[in-house]
Amino acid sequence: MRTTTLLLAAALTALLTPGIAHAAPCSGYVGLTFDDGPSNAHTPAILNALRQNGLRATMFNEGQYAAAYPAQVRAEAAAGMWIGNHSYTHPHLTQESQAQMDSELSRTQQAIAAAGGGTPSLFRPPYGETNSTLRAVEASHGLTQIIWDVDSQDWNGASVDAIVQANARLTNGQIILMHEWPANTLAAIPRIAQGLTSRGLCAGRISPQTGRAVAP
Ligand SMILES: [Zn+2]
Repeated sequence: MRTTTLLLAAALTALLTPGIAHAAPCSGYVGLTFDDGPSNAHTPAILNALRQNGLRATMFNEGQYAAAYPAQVRAEAAAGMWIGNHSYTHPHLTQESQAQMDSELSRTQQAIAAAGGGTPSLFRPPYGETNSTLRAVEASHGLTQIIWDVDSQDWNGASVDAIVQANARLTNGQIILMHEWPANTLAAIPRIAQGLTSRGLCAGRISPQTGRAVAP
């Protein structure tokens, strides 16, 4: 009885004390993804916005930029983001030979790892374009292909409202396509966070086993 009373008192104190963070319960997880980085121009602002709003995301990096801006790869990892492979030069891979596909994927794996971002287990094909040859090359590098359930259209000039509304369509386990470079995407991040919280959803990692968003 005494233990129960003490536990209740502790719980009440925690609930009533300002300054103690109470994480909202997560009834589900969604996968936020940001493609085409890293860069000195956009990555720091995106990471700050995500961090300030308590969001974690998967950053699908191009190998050429991971090689050019390794400090930004490390910053992504330090900010708690997950780093995926988005090819080396962002070509239309389905128009390339198997050897070219292999080069695009393997050089990116090496560039991200060399920068300190770990060895990716997720791959997003540029433009979402894929075929059986590409899937075999992905598999040979231990990469799980991740497309998306919702396209925010941020790459196509979507407004802040439209980007927020696209995120509002996400259900448990789903993944949304966004990019690190559109100003409207950066501006939408606080409202994306508020919308998820109001629906009891949290930003999760993408499982390489299932390709779905799950608890971090
Ligand atoms: Zn892309």
